[in-house]
Amino acid sequence: MNALDSFAASKLDALERAHLRRALVDTAREDGVWIVRDEKRLLSFSCNDYLNLTHHPKVKAAAIAAIEEHGAGAGASRLVTGNHPLFAELEARLAKLKETEAACIFGSGYLANAGIIPVLVGEGDLLLIDEFSHSCLWAGSQLSRANVQTFRHNDLSHVEELLSQGRGKHQQAMIVTDGVFSMDGDLAPLHELGALARTHNAWLMSDDAHGLGVLANGRGSVFASGTKAPVDLQMGTLSKALGSYGGYLCASRAVIDLIKTRARTLIYSTGLPPASVAAAMAALGIIETDPDLTARPLANAQAFTRALNLPLAQSPIVPIVIGDEVVALNAQKVLEREGFLVTAIRPPTVPAGTARLRVAFTAGHPMVEVERLASVIRQRILL
Ligand SMILES: *Cc1c(COP(=O)(O)O)cnc(C)c1O
Repeated sequence: MNALDSFAASKLDALERAHLRRALVDTAREDGVWIVRDEKRLLSFSCNDYLNLTHHPKVKAAAIAAIEEHGAGAGASRLVTGNHPLFAELEARLAKLKETEAACIFGSGYLANAGIIPVLVGEGDLLLIDEFSHSCLWAGSQLSRANVQTFRHNDLSHVEELLSQGRGKHQQAMIVTDGVFSMDGDLAPLHELGALARTHNAWLMSDDAHGLGVLANGRGSVFASGTKAPVDLQMGTLSKALGSYGGYLCASRAVIDLIKTRARTLIYSTGLPPASVAAAMAALGIIETDPDLTARPLANAQAFTRALNLPLAQSPIVPIVIGDEVVALNAQKVLEREGFLVTAIRPPTVPAGTARLRVAFTAGHPMVEVERLASVIRQRILL
């Protein structure tokens, strides 16, 4: 073994001993809810395909037609020749849905967050981030070289304290948070964060990866309270409820123009495949016209939390926090034997000591299966 290989092997050994080694498992998806692993068919509660649109006939047909018309790939960065006419159409549709002046689509949600934040804040600026924010908000924060300070999860008084102490010492200030927390399923207090941002002359950015398509008739977490929260930068993904791939930012015209000029992950990365853009657009069309569909994932999650006497679900994501990694992995195995896929989530995706089952509900889960999952969890896991 050479030095590099033994370095890699010893890292893997350490992860294995801590039960934190991860492996890719071949998983065939038959449709929006059923998957096949090791020749076993399982009902998946681990896909983010909340509306099962990855397999919707209209969405697939739109992607196929776009390949026929525009080819399989974009061919270059959007700023060179990769900006197919479909892109502007999708951006206009997203801006309309989110009530902003403009939008910009990116290669993925991760690329969006890694690109947006460093355009807006840098050295000498203050960036406040919720401790449970998604990994790619952290990546963007670290790339920005701003003074990054973490606030306790959804703790408004902590945000207030950090702004009162730090705002005057920095040029710009920005607050970033998930709108729907990806591993906890709870919502950020966006109205209150927006008010704090206003008071302290700071900007607010939220990541709606898990809100678009499933909250407030599909419009997302910014609209979840019934009125639009004052969020300056509404970021999200095309890869979850929209069933496609890609990321986006909705904001004012000036901000979007600046992002399109300066975001490195947009400038130096190839544009999305036209098929992904067309699929996302077809999915948006379904979301805009089918409020019953968009209400179903949350209704399923709430039926589940009622059956288990858990706090009422606020989004389609429900965590069953177990604590220990090995116990969480065993719980996943128990559920697999019952025909369910509910993937155990371990650190560093979640804080140490909070390994969990993350249950994600979709429109297509039959209610009898939601109830059976709840009863298996009650009898075999929560004991
Ligand atoms: C999945 C996710 C992303 C990344 O989006 P991709 O399009 O999959 O890269 C960003 N933020 C949150 C909160 C997510 O859950």
